[in-house]
Amino acid sequence: MSAPPSEGPLLGAVEGGGTKFVCAVGRGPDDIVEQVRFETRGPDETLGRAIEFLRPHAPSKIGVAMFGPLELSPDAGEGYGAMLGTPKPGWAGAPVRARLAAALGAPVAIDTDVNAAALGEQRWGAARGADPVVYVTVGTGVGGGVVVHGRPVHGLMHPELGHLPMPRLADASGAPDPFEGACPFHGRCLEGLASGTALAARLGDPSATPASDPVWELVAGYVAHGLAAAVLLLSPERIVIGGGVMERQPHLLPRVRRRLREVLAGYVARPELDEGLDAYVVPPRFEHAGLAGAFALVE
Ligand code: ZN
Repeated sequence: MSAPPSEGPLLGAVEGGGTKFVCAVGRGPDDIVEQVRFETRGPDETLGRAIEFLRPHAPSKIGVAMFGPLELSPDAGEGYGAMLGTPKPGWAGAPVRARLAAALGAPVAIDTDVNAAALGEQRWGAARGADPVVYVTVGTGVGGGVVVHGRPVHGLMHPELGHLPMPRLADASGAPDPFEGACPFHGRCLEGLASGTALAARLGDPSATPASDPVWELVAGYVAHGLAAAVLLLSPERIVIGGGVMERQPHLLPRVRRRLREVLAGYVARPELDEGLDAYVVPPRFEHAGLAGAFALVE
């Protein structure tokens, strides 16, 4: 690992999440000069606060890791880097990239928070040396970012791993999971079954649900099915998985690894998916992986 550069122009980095924004200036995630964090409100107020923080530092470039969905087609002109339809009040159509670029007079690179996080963890974190890399967050929502050959995947839009359809799993007694899911689009997709929002709809207060409750085995099973789809479709060399649900329920990660091995049933015959699973499905190195990713976008 190379030492962080101690001089050179300051870069701006913004992790725009659905519940909080984290903004930093520095020369990389290991050389941050100043950082702030505030709640996500409407786009005018929230982007205004980011601009107010960044402007005095005159960053030469700004990287933005933004919750989605986002318009990432370079053909979209001024619409490039704007929010697409989102249930988050006020944010649909918000011109995130254009607003920051105009106010700060510097180039702005933007990607989804999870694509950026995959890139940041590959560059400096838990996925160093691996390619492709999949980064999954299980938090308020479920998202997945993908880096292939060193580049975040874009295409028709961007990967939306959180909305993978899910089979109806059964609990240890064989009874099918009765929960119909919480995704307004799909009901029982991965996000509809395993996100913090879904857990709140199912359990009321997930933090009051003990680790021994059978529901966690179902949740681990759904997450494992999502990871299995990623393994089979993208053949990643490492999967980084974080987010509030994984952090608050530390018993989930070992269960997810075990269930992933069961779901794949030995078909992908690699030691990473057997005795090497603990080093293959790993937590992020960075507390704010999206912020590291924002630096990676402009580094
Ligand atoms: Zn969905």
